[in-house]
Amino acid sequence: MTTSFDAFGASRRGLEVRRARAAFKRELSDGRHRLLDIFDRSEDPDADLVLRGLRVEWFLRTIPGFGAKKTKAVLERVGVRPTATLGGLRVRQRAALRVEVVALYRRYFPHHRGNLVVLAGPSGVGKGTIVEWITRRFPDFVLSVSATTRPPRPGEREGEHYFFLSPRAFQTLIDAGELLEWAVVHGEHLYGTPIGPVETLLDEGKNVILEIDVQGAKQVKRRVKRALSIFVAPPTFAALEERLAARGTENDAEQRRRLATARKELSRQHEFDHVVINETVEEAGQSIVDLVLASQRTQATKE
Ligand code: 5GP
Repeated sequence: MTTSFDAFGASRRGLEVRRARAAFKRELSDGRHRLLDIFDRSEDPDADLVLRGLRVEWFLRTIPGFGAKKTKAVLERVGVRPTATLGGLRVRQRAALRVEVVALYRRYFPHHRGNLVVLAGPSGVGKGTIVEWITRRFPDFVLSVSATTRPPRPGEREGEHYFFLSPRAFQTLIDAGELLEWAVVHGEHLYGTPIGPVETLLDEGKNVILEIDVQGAKQVKRRVKRALSIFVAPPTFAALEERLAARGTENDAEQRRRLATARKELSRQHEFDHVVINETVEEAGQSIVDLVLASQRTQATKE
């Protein structure tokens, strides 16, 4: 007698899936995957069945220290049954649960996120060139795009160099609490760091560089304890004067204003975690990368 149902084969496959699921749960508990990444990947209908079939309850319970009670509370808040699977969530449930998962990920796995790197230093010291050197060679390093009320210079593009805003639009961002920091730079225009894109990049594990002024750097250090602040100094003040003149992007009055700001900024370099002297772009860039990677290792061992 033949039967179309292969009971033996089915139970063997069932066993294989259960084994694969148990192994995956262990990997999650061991922190071998980025929690948020896994959650987002489970939305894809073509994703691995082990991932799609994982119960939401078990997914949350793989977070070390996150027990049954806390899991139940989260599931009740977002209206998801404990037996629901990651791949079976409805759109609204997924959206509500994602907010919770992001919060848990940031709280329980800070070491899985990228580093926030604050890079300050006087105008003309070569921060831009150093950042370009770093981001070209190291794809895990990205530059945050600031908002400013300064008008664009020739060749500057919206959303790439800056978000160029009117004073009123800038004020709206301040009022909405959407800036991580902001300051009036060179006594003239407003500059600030939009917080949303920075958090998203950090969630993705990117090291986010903020190329900002000393006042902004101070604000970031106050708000984000893990941020690493680095001051880029010129070899000499004369070298800075030369570079600013050679750059030719500012008129005489602007150059004088920038040099006056530079003197003030240089006197505050001791407030930073590290000072890197820009002798050559390669050396300065590599030193910054090394400092960031070293701080990442130290933090991971502390946590
Ligand atoms: P520039 O007008 O030459 O593009 O920039 C002038 C200065 O503004 C730079 O030295 C830079 O450090 C600072 N700056 C750029 N973006 C920001 C920002 O988002 N916040 C703060 N506080 N300063 C910024």
